[in-house]
Amino acid sequence: SEESNMIVAVRVRPLNALECTRGQVTNVVQVNGNNNELTVQAGSSADASAGVTHFFSYDQVYYSCDPESRNFACQAKVFDGTARPLIDTAFEGYNACLFAYGQTGSGKSYSMMGIEALDDAALDGGPPHDEAGIIPRFCHELFRRIEAVKAQQQLQVEVEVSYFEIYNEKIHDLLSVQHAAAGSMESTPVQHQQRPALKVREHPIFGPYVVDLSAHSVDSYSALRNWLAVGNSQRATASTAMNDKSSRSHSIFNIVLNLTDLTSDDGLSSDTDSISSLRQTRRSKISLVDLAGSERISVSGSNGERIREGVSINKSLLTLGKVIAALAETRKASGPLGSGTPSAFVPYRESVLTWLLRENLGGNSKTVMLATISPASLHADETLATLRYACKARSIVNRVKVNESPHD
Ligand code: ADP
Ligand code: MG
Repeated sequence: SEESNMIVAVRVRPLNALECTRGQVTNVVQVNGNNNELTVQAGSSADASAGVTHFFSYDQVYYSCDPESRNFACQAKVFDGTARPLIDTAFEGYNACLFAYGQTGSGKSYSMMGIEALDDAALDGGPPHDEAGIIPRFCHELFRRIEAVKAQQQLQVEVEVSYFEIYNEKIHDLLSVQHAAAGSMESTPVQHQQRPALKVREHPIFGPYVVDLSAHSVDSYSALRNWLAVGNSQRATASTAMNDKSSRSHSIFNIVLNLTDLTSDDGLSSDTDSISSLRQTRRSKISLVDLAGSERISVSGSNGERIREGVSINKSLLTLGKVIAALAETRKASGPLGSGTPSAFVPYRESVLTWLLRENLGGNSKTVMLATISPASLHADETLATLRYACKARSIVNRVKVNESPHD
């Protein structure tokens, strides 16, 4: 196996109309010319740290505030820098993960999904709209690549998708067959709420998984795009029924890619069983994650009050913080000077989210974190909390290997 650093990117959304009309709200975030450093001017006169400039450095910084600025990052640019490389990763047989982290309203869903209403053409197999986010672009590019590779090489390709959300430590399938078969986007939220929550279990080889989660084979971008639409509408229905739900739930979109090389096969033999057992299969699991809003468990909330609130509201997000902190500690301790120091305990199993993302956090996966922030003075404290969290994640190192069978 080899080492792979977690890639940490930060995206700054534009001031919104409301913020612009409020005279006292200013843009306090600045990005350097190389798009890898940013500064935050903190804060209001009430703030003890008023006037201080905070400096941060990341793998990539995407400035999406001003379309006129030279380094403006549109949806396509963010996709190209963060998620497109994961297509190669998947084809090579590595697991991959991209997760969006940030306070509610900072642009997680815009970055991950984009503006869906504008993306109708995609449902007929057309390319993603300009405002489409990382997930539809990833799906589109995945099938474009599959077709390109198939044109050059005999390859059997299987793509399977699943989509679920975690709310209050309960897992809900967003693609469950009853809904899909009925074809009804109008299945009631009550139904969604009443379905029993799914459980996590540990598979001896593949690790943690969701028991009875539906998985759907797809053979084209439009098929994949349709499942995505089914899941998104399930998500929307459920969150309208319960106020504020979307900001408190995590959504996880999984793609499993299986590639079997058929070139060793002369194509004439009838003894397919013995041949297929010798074929090389590569497998990759790709997880694209839109996390709950981070505002309730900010790092600055180390005072008991805010942490207690966090426990009751979002155990998964709180545990994610602990896992990232523990992994960052382990890294520090196992550096050239600290070798031999025992690793910190990493509490993966304390929450549903971290248990399911175990391989993606410190395990066998190439992982990208996209931290989203608001540039508004009004949100400077949350922005700083997100940026510090993202810095910590930068020190995480995963150990990755190609998932290949049969092994030689
Ligand atoms: P979150 O999912 O983090 O709660 P959203 O993605 O829903 O936040 O973003 C909040 C609002 O800001 C939405 O109306 C969204 O369209 C808009 N927005 C977010 N990021 C951008 C961006 N980079 N460019 C334009 N609009 C954005
Ligand atoms: Mg959102």
